[in-house]
Amino acid sequence: MPYSYDDDNIFAKILRGEIPNDTVLETEHSLAFRDIRPQAPEHVLIIPKGKYVSFDHFAQEATAEEITDFTRAVGEVCRKLGVAPGAAGGGYRLISNAGRDGVQEVPHLHVHVLGGRVLGPMLAHPA
Ligand code: 5GP
Repeated sequence: MPYSYDDDNIFAKILRGEIPNDTVLETEHSLAFRDIRPQAPEHVLIIPKGKYVSFDHFAQEATAEEITDFTRAVGEVCRKLGVAPGAAGGGYRLISNAGRDGVQEVPHLHVHVLGGRVLGPMLAHPA
């Protein structure tokens, strides 16, 4: 089933400037801001500015320029937060939830960057 994008989702409103955000980084095609309900000392969301619902949607339909911009934005946020191991940080976890089983709350692609403490097992309730 093809993706259809909901223009009323909360991140679309953030991108339109209708809702404030705590911006960490803005590039031509991406925006990174702090999660409103942080689950770690560092918890930042990175979103593309384009209308993509999930990572696979983005991978399939985004331009090479958007993909490069977004990927570099993720790396730059990790360095800015001081969590990149290559820059003496303690490390981080990237999460991108999609769809029902991924328990995606906001239907606009976002990558969570979590860090600042040891994050424990990958899933709270392994199968
Ligand atoms: P998901 O479950 O879709 O992967 O995560 C959505 C994330 O968006 C959640 O961690 C939630 O706290 C965050 N979030 C929801 N609404 C807002 C908002 O208005 N502002 C910010 N900064 N984060 C939000």
